[in-house]
Amino acid sequence: MAENNQNIMKNTWKCSNCGNTVVEIKPPEICPSCKQKCEFMNVTCYQPDCGFTGMDKRLKPTK
Ligand SMILES: [Zn+2]
Repeated sequence: MAENNQNIMKNTWKCSNCGNTVVEIKPPEICPSCKQKCEFMNVTCYQPDCGFTGMDKRLKPTK
């Protein structure tokens, strides 16, 4: 498996407050769903074993 990035990959960010996910390169300052300055967790999955959903189901919010 290649280790170098070929493209600029967008990441999947999950709002720790409302659970909304956004797909951007960087996490948004303000959550578009709950309009709060939330902590966003990177839930991007880079491995094929999570079914190419773009999200790793094994990752859970820490709060
Ligand atoms: Zn939110």
